This record gives sequence, structure tokens and C-alpha cells, in this order.
Amino acid sequence: MKRLFIHSAFIVGLLLSSIATASNFPTEEPVGGEPFGTSTTNIGDGLYVFRWWVYRNIFLVTDEGVIVTDPMNQKVANMLLGEIRKITDKPIKYVIYSHNHHDHISGGKVFKDEGAEFIAHKNVLKELGDHPISATPLPDITFDDEYTVQLGGRKIELKYFGPNHGESLVVMRLPKEKILFIVDIVTPRRVAFRTMPDFWPDEWIRSLKEIEQMDFDYVISGHGPETQPAIDPALIVAEQRVFLEDLMIAVKKAMDTGTHNPSVLRKTVKLPKYENWQYYKEWLPMNIERIWAYYHMGW
Ligand SMILES: [Zn+2]
Repeated sequence: MKRLFIHSAFIVGLLLSSIATASNFPTEEPVGGEPFGTSTTNIGDGLYVFRWWVYRNIFLVTDEGVIVTDPMNQKVANMLLGEIRKITDKPIKYVIYSHNHHDHISGGKVFKDEGAEFIAHKNVLKELGDHPISATPLPDITFDDEYTVQLGGRKIELKYFGPNHGESLVVMRLPKEKILFIVDIVTPRRVAFRTMPDFWPDEWIRSLKEIEQMDFDYVISGHGPETQPAIDPALIVAEQRVFLEDLMIAVKKAMDTGTHNPSVLRKTVKLPKYENWQYYKEWLPMNIERIWAYYHMGW
């Protein structure tokens, strides 16, 4: 029944996705500005996707309490708590940070005040120690390679794949449902984010190859506009990897044939296969310059 529910939600999502076009998606995002709104999608069996603007997280309602991920910022964390309270009055037991970046985890205090314990990869401790956020607590529980959060008979497995986007990003897996929640390193049918800040291109590809070996059928990604489904098929991980490989090959080929000026590369390297992906026109030149830097500087 649950499986059926996931399937039907997913199929509806796919239909919506096929109707949606890039023109529905804002090309000038209000960085730090007004949000485009929120929505909460019931995936089934206590799992929800909460979206604010182009950010998404998941929360899991169990018989013994709620597990929340990425509290984004204080304003949004309050909205998220309000959404959870429409569904359950059970305590917020755990908050899981996907990684250290402030745009995803700055609203933790809202859930600390509710008595939640915070869980993250051990490197988040150092990173938040070096770059503290006043309204989000340091993690109470940290781990190195793997950790399983258990509550009310439910499980969320956390796995660290080494550096890829920063050095603390964890992939979350719901083993029974075979769903992954992946933040920042997989965004369906979108080119890489701007200049790829804190992304390590080769490690990113390596991590995606390892993630592809995991046991999962669906992916919920940490970014996506309301015009895209809340849940996608597993193949979006491979699609993301192939895009990165194609990007790196194209830039390398241009450099090998004598073009070393990044301004020229930005204008001349094209990846027509991805013309329909979000932000192709706006962000691909920035992606190209980042890959130029990778080959030029060796990282
Ligand atoms: Zn990030």
C-alpha cells in the first residue's frame, strides 16, 4: 500500500515535471531575499518533503517523535515547525544536518528549543567551530563513516562519502522505502550551481559513482522548484554524474587544443545535450570556468 502510494505520488510528480518547463522557473533568484513560498508533500508512511523557495528537506513522523533534516534558517525553521505541528504534536527528537553550509542549517535553534538532539558528520563540529552560526547549535552526536538514526521503529541511515561538496556532506537513506535524500550534489536536470562553490569536481564524480552502488529506487534532492516533483527516480544520480563527466571532457578537450583563456572557454564550450536543463544558459559558463580552474590549478 505504502509502495503504491510512493508510486502514485511519483507518477503524478513525473506528469507535473513533463508539463513544467524552464520558463516557469525564476531565472533571477532573490539571494537572501523574499522566499517564493513553501509546500509540504506527503510521500507516505510518515515521510514528508518540505519545500521553501528552491530548498527542500525531509521530515519523518514516527510513533515516538519526529526526525527533521536541515533547518535552513530561523524564519523557515519556524514555518517548518508550523507544518509539522499541523500533522503531529509528537516531540521533535532529532535534527540531522546534511552538511555544514549555512544556507541549509542556520535555523537549528528553533528545534533545540523543542528539545531535539542534533546529528551530523564529525567535520561539521570543526566547520561550525571555525564559522559559527549564532542560531544553530553544534551537533550533539557526530560520526565518521556511517550512523543510523532509529526512532519509533523507523530508520534513517547516514553515510559519508568523503569530500565532494565540502567535507561533511552525508547522504541519507530510508532503507525500507529505498529512498535517498541527497543535498547539493544531485539536483535533477539542472547544471551545476553557479561557480560550483566548495565543490571538488573529481571527488564529486567519485562520490556519485559510489552512491549509484547503493540500494535505492528514489531520490529526494535538496533543491528543486515547485514545478518539479518532490521525488525522482534513482537514475537522476547517474544523470548528474554523466553531466559532470561531459562538462569536464568538453573543457579538457578545448584546453588540449590550445584554448586556455577562461573567458574564451566560457563562450565557446557548449553542451547542447543539456540545453533543456535548468540554468543552462545562465550557469554553464560559470561551470566551465570552475572546470578550467580545476585543470589550470590542479584541484
Ligand atoms: Zn552546500
